[in-house]
Amino acid sequence: MSAHVPVMTAEALEFLQPERGGVFVDCTVGLGGHSRALLDRGASRVIGIDRDLDALAHARVTLAPWGAKAELVHSDYRAIDSVLDGLDIALVDGALADLGVSSMQFDEPGRGFSFQRDEPLDMRMDRSSGETAAQLIATAGEQELADTIYAYGEERFSRRIARRIVEARREAPIDTTLKLATIVRRAVPTRGYQRIDPATRTFQALRIWVNRELEGLDAFLGAMAKRLRAGARLVVITFHSLEDRIVKHTLRALEKSGDAAVKILTKKPLVPGESEIALNPRARSAKLRAAEKLA
Ligand code: SAH
Repeated sequence: MSAHVPVMTAEALEFLQPERGGVFVDCTVGLGGHSRALLDRGASRVIGIDRDLDALAHARVTLAPWGAKAELVHSDYRAIDSVLDGLDIALVDGALADLGVSSMQFDEPGRGFSFQRDEPLDMRMDRSSGETAAQLIATAGEQELADTIYAYGEERFSRRIARRIVEARREAPIDTTLKLATIVRRAVPTRGYQRIDPATRTFQALRIWVNRELEGLDAFLGAMAKRLRAGARLVVITFHSLEDRIVKHTLRALEKSGDAAVKILTKKPLVPGESEIALNPRARSAKLRAAEKLA
């Protein structure tokens, strides 16, 4: 397994102030890197949520030294209310959401997130439910495919790619990463030097679609804000502009709302320093926003 280095840990800890103790929710515990840092710095208890059972198995090992102070829950963070209700926790002292995929999901063989290897086109973070990328691609209409690749991949050749997918699937199922990558690469006109593989944007779009990554993100932030004690902080780290836009607008709306009102602490999002990016390529596109619950 490749090591997953948590992103912007110093900045997250500065906002969350775990040294004051209290209960923290790590909405995307992943391999447990941020949770470990919270516990190391004095959090009394961390509730770690993830919808990926493999991630939770890793987090369990990472967080074993803290015993019952670390509680792991297999859930979608959009079910935050039922997770906290189930643990009899009304309000928490801080919350962190580090969105997107982990380097483990990306690098571990057999998950289908990456076109660096040929493997089944799955892409589900939670392999215990939902449709795989291969299943969605087999059944979606051409227009829906084009719209998805355009919206979630910001891919200007989305229509051509969708058309090629529909043509190709008449011949044979598109059920591996390499089959899809090949179709996309052939559909996209190549002119000179390519900075990124032409399949990158389509793979991002499918991953967001399969996992419904943007749906309900706003409702989750609102629900999370309601569960913060006065003075407690929410830290959100995003990895692409679509997500960051939702976080920015939702926090602004919460700032103006009477109910669950927060104060935004990051006028502009924080980004990692150059030294962090040099050490950890996953940090490259990270943006961190934080807000504090008002009394
Ligand atoms: N902060 C973690 C890494 C998180 S990577 C660490 O330090 O190790 C993002 C994680 O969020 C992944 O494990 C992914 O499975 C999880 N995730 C993404 N969307 C989710 C959702 N809606 N509900 C719960 N977990 C989610």
